[in-house]
Amino acid sequence: MHIDTKCVHSGSGADTVTGGVNTPIFPSSAHEYLDAGETAYPRYFNTFNQNVLVRKICDLEGAEDGVVFSSGMAAISSVMLTFLKSGDHAVLQDEIYGGSHAFVGAFFDRFGIGYTFVETSADAVEEAVRPETKVIFIETPTNPLLGIMDISAVAGVAGRHGCLTVIDNTFATPVLQNPIRLGIDVVVHSGTKYLGGHSDLSAGAVVCSRELAAGIRKTAVNFGGNLNALTCYLLERSLKTLAIRVRQQSENAMAVAGFLAGDPAIGSVSYPGLPDHPGHAIAMGQMSGFGAMVAFEPADPQMTADKFMRRLKLIKPAVSLGGVETTICDPARTSHSKVSAEIRARQGISDNLLRLSVGIEKTEDLMEDIRQALK
Ligand code: PLP
Repeated sequence: MHIDTKCVHSGSGADTVTGGVNTPIFPSSAHEYLDAGETAYPRYFNTFNQNVLVRKICDLEGAEDGVVFSSGMAAISSVMLTFLKSGDHAVLQDEIYGGSHAFVGAFFDRFGIGYTFVETSADAVEEAVRPETKVIFIETPTNPLLGIMDISAVAGVAGRHGCLTVIDNTFATPVLQNPIRLGIDVVVHSGTKYLGGHSDLSAGAVVCSRELAAGIRKTAVNFGGNLNALTCYLLERSLKTLAIRVRQQSENAMAVAGFLAGDPAIGSVSYPGLPDHPGHAIAMGQMSGFGAMVAFEPADPQMTADKFMRRLKLIKPAVSLGGVETTICDPARTSHSKVSAEIRARQGISDNLLRLSVGIEKTEDLMEDIRQALK
């Protein structure tokens, strides 16, 4: 089946009581157990609504099994601490989401896990691999500068050195990029973003092989970042429109990025769909669209990020991304506030950088709002 069809139909739970076409919501956290083989319990990650949602995300990513979490960071931290222990080493892309970066900085030293942050290139990943490297963690496109990592090349590096690969596929979604088909072992998501798509839920997901998922579930049972039945339902419902939303948002972002690139009041634009983006050629090869995130800086340093955002009338300054409404933020104060100013400078995140999450509105209205704010 095509992904559009899978979005609608995969992993739906039958409503045998009323014959309704939507999955029923079963909120119980206590289930009778005397005659049951395995008892459902939310923190065992085995309830009806969790299982239904996992099935759908697995189908979209082409994975065997998975685990759904209460946030993207619950998913990411559970994956890292499943596959890394004291004495191991991880290679991570320096440009990853600020929260993931901060997690590594806060916990790996404490747990005796070695790590090397590398620039966005498969060669840099290979150079950093050591005999004790167990995990390679990448994110592409990256938050916020839309760096593009060559996924197949990284999978090749991991194959040569016997490492496990993990990718954060939040920005691309399975609609635009299928890392498992490109040789990646574990795919993580912040479901709070495009998968949810309406800025009204918090969730995370991990999909991979059956064997790897069993290990992650064991960790997750101890950490307890499980997703409740109502949110499982909301996310499953949102996924029905994932393909149509993400394609439209991606098309809109291309138009807005082109508009920004042609405006002299804009100093720099970062969007993988623009031919001058350093990752453009790789993105063309591994994505079926360039996504809906655009980063830019006003040319005039007097036009600070804060000033620009306060002048907008339609586009909402808001933390988070991936909703149907266009939102904007300055990563230095939001997504990357937990990493040091030194790391932000190294990554190219200036205080005036703006990150636009393009929604499904008519692009003319978005451009008009940006135009009037720049005046
Ligand atoms: N990964 C990426 C790329 C993100 O942008 C975010 C959040 O902004 C996360 C992971 C973490 O997700 P959550 O906020 O759902 O924990």
